Amino acid sequence: MSNEINCEICRDLIPLVKDGVASADSEAAVRQHTSGCSECAGLFDGEAVPNAPEPPKVLKRVKRWLNCIYIVLMVLGLYVGLSVTSSIDLFYNVLIMPVAGVLGYLAFRWKSVFIVPVILLVMNIITNALGLFSAERLGFSELMMWTIIYILFIAAGIVIAMLFRFAFGKHSSGKESKNER
Ligand SMILES: [Zn+2]
Repeated sequence: MSNEINCEICRDLIPLVKDGVASADSEAAVRQHTSGCSECAGLFDGEAVPNAPEPPKVLKRVKRWLNCIYIVLMVLGLYVGLSVTSSIDLFYNVLIMPVAGVLGYLAFRWKSVFIVPVILLVMNIITNALGLFSAERLGFSELMMWTIIYILFIAAGIVIAMLFRFAFGKHSSGKESKNER
């Protein structure tokens, strides 16, 4: 039985064949076509549509949004963390600062090693100068001491995030790095 079909008809039929509702003739036609057409064969095997530039774009947009959310949460975290420096809640920073580091890593990847400490330092200097969190302003050495301690906790968070990514994200990291660089 010769029932050759073109790509368009084949692609219409593929979902039916996959769902098992196509007629025997349709299925035979699809199998015959896919044996000679690698593009349709790819579709039949469940690969993505070959001419689909949209998913990466959508992904990029989602990524950008996620990055914005990470950055906002990170800055909020740093703000809250700095606000408790002079209070009894100071020790929440053991948790807050590493989380801020993780968020920074999600947003900036390895550059977070530089970016998050700089943001923290700037925020610490500004909030201290304005006396936002405490009437008593920290002296320079005290300010630097807390900044360094917080940076250590942030660095711990970044390292943890990096380790997680390399341990569990190997599969996707290859694809991601292609898009990023
Ligand atoms: Zn085809």
